[in-house]
Amino acid sequence: MTQTQEQTVSRGDSPFVPIEKIVSLCKRRGFVYPNSEIYGGVSGIYDFGPLGVELRNNIRRYWWWSMVQTNDNVVGIEGAIITHPRVWEASGHVENFVDHLVDCKNCKRRFRVDHLPPENLAQRKCPVCGGELTEPRTFNLMMET
Ligand SMILES: [Zn+2]
Repeated sequence: MTQTQEQTVSRGDSPFVPIEKIVSLCKRRGFVYPNSEIYGGVSGIYDFGPLGVELRNNIRRYWWWSMVQTNDNVVGIEGAIITHPRVWEASGHVENFVDHLVDCKNCKRRFRVDHLPPENLAQRKCPVCGGELTEPRTFNLMMET
């Protein structure tokens, strides 16, 4: 199967591609693998395979060059991701890194409210299967330690 055929097949009737298909493709091509997979994995955490490391490094190098090295008024730093909670409060991450999500009670898909067509949100109707959506709830993207 060519890459074009594979993309066409994976789209189907839905604009959404299930995460299982994306993970399967990435594993086959050597981009990412679920972390600790042989022990059952850790939900939502992935390790980079040989091509994934190359891709990540290329993106990182390009981003650093375009954002830091080509701008005289920008300096580069690399801080730790896990840091004192007050730093994240002061930076606005705790207050502003929030998504409003709804779940489909039928197909169990999850959607960001701001990505839903307005008519689906107004009718609380899933854009994929037509099932009932839950009330919107907030989801903070920051990891708790
Ligand atoms: Zn649904």
